[in-house]
Amino acid sequence: MNADFLIVGQGIAGSVLAWTLDQRGCSVILADDPGLPSASAVAAGIVNPLTGRKLVRTWNADELFPFLHQFYRSIEQQLGVQFFHSKTIYRPFRSDDERKTYQELTADPAVRPYVTESPEDASYSQWINNPFGGLSVAQAGWVDLNEFVRLIKGYFIQKNQYYEGRVEQTDLVVGDTSAAWKGITFNRVIFCDGVQAQQNPLFNWLPFNPVKGQILTALVDGYSIPDIVNQGVFILPVRPGLIRIGATYSWHDLDWEISDDGREYLEAKVRAVLKIPYEIVNQQAGIRPSTKDRRPFVGLHKGKPVAGIFGGMGTKGVSLAPYLAEQFARHLLDGEELDSEANISRCVSL
Ligand SMILES: Cc1cc2nc3c(=O)[nH]c(=O)nc-3n(C[C@H](O)[C@H](O)[C@H](O)COP(=O)(O)OP(=O)(O)OC[C@H]3O[C@@H](n4cnc5c(N)ncnc54)[C@H](O)[C@@H]3O)c2cc1C
Repeated sequence: MNADFLIVGQGIAGSVLAWTLDQRGCSVILADDPGLPSASAVAAGIVNPLTGRKLVRTWNADELFPFLHQFYRSIEQQLGVQFFHSKTIYRPFRSDDERKTYQELTADPAVRPYVTESPEDASYSQWINNPFGGLSVAQAGWVDLNEFVRLIKGYFIQKNQYYEGRVEQTDLVVGDTSAAWKGITFNRVIFCDGVQAQQNPLFNWLPFNPVKGQILTALVDGYSIPDIVNQGVFILPVRPGLIRIGATYSWHDLDWEISDDGREYLEAKVRAVLKIPYEIVNQQAGIRPSTKDRRPFVGLHKGKPVAGIFGGMGTKGVSLAPYLAEQFARHLLDGEELDSEANISRCVSL
């Protein structure tokens, strides 16, 4: 039996790449081991073009954001489902000075398309502290990642192209012109194995810089702000009365365990914003596959070009994956060049 692609790992990266290649008419076997941890199973799924106190535009935002909205919407339409929630992000100012700084920053023509005009500050005041007003970020939203991954898994199961279990390196033979695994011959094997790529003998040389993150889920009676609120932490409304609060960033203690420190940090931040009582009902931890130069890892192995990687998505897998998967598909199928900042060839001298 032959197939075009074996995709190893079904977080956001594997799901998006498998879908993209399938839509281009390729035969794809998607494999994932539910026994391994997954950052996508923990992530809030937010897409946000302007981040941090300096309203830094996401890398390649002008290409990524229009593309991702269209990408997720088209899957919803094709499958008749909903997992993508287009929202604005409301950012209450911490002070009058901050309001003035943000007004200057948003006057920049490169930033302006991502800001909506004067939000109705009063409509938030019942639930959150916003005495200085706030700013609304446009083209944002969130993907319900558990739902998205479940739907993509179902799609490939229905096509009989899904393998639930671990792809062991010992079972995989990567040759010069094809790869063999469990009696199937593939033109390519692409690893979308998240932070586990650090243990992958083909790609463990890439300069990863993983970042642990923690997130809370809370009940909050009567809270009905439809937007995502962000002031140092985000408050993501999953449905009326249920929110997610996140996230922490830590470059040490890189395990998948929750901690009291993580919870206390998030609670201290959220108490400064949220006016009404809440009850924490869940806490989760994950490890983001971040990279030293904060750019993703996309491309084929130099010595064994039958194998490739699609990863290193860091804090922004949901925003990056659709556009990069399209680029990678064009590279694999049409021979187009990859973005040099994303291409792993930039790391080869290492
Ligand atoms: C607390 C927290 C909040 C976050 N919030 C956001 C957010 O709001 N927006 C955003 O864009 N990003 C967010 N992120 C980052 C996001 O999680 C990552 O960018 C993204 O999930 C990375 O996806 P991935 O598919 O590369 O890796 P993963 O999701 O980790 O998936 C890798 C998959 O590969 C599988 N796998 C590995 N090796 C094998 C093997 N040998 N055989 C079979 N399967 C294998 C694993 O089982 C896993 O399912 C957050 C992360 C954390 C921790």
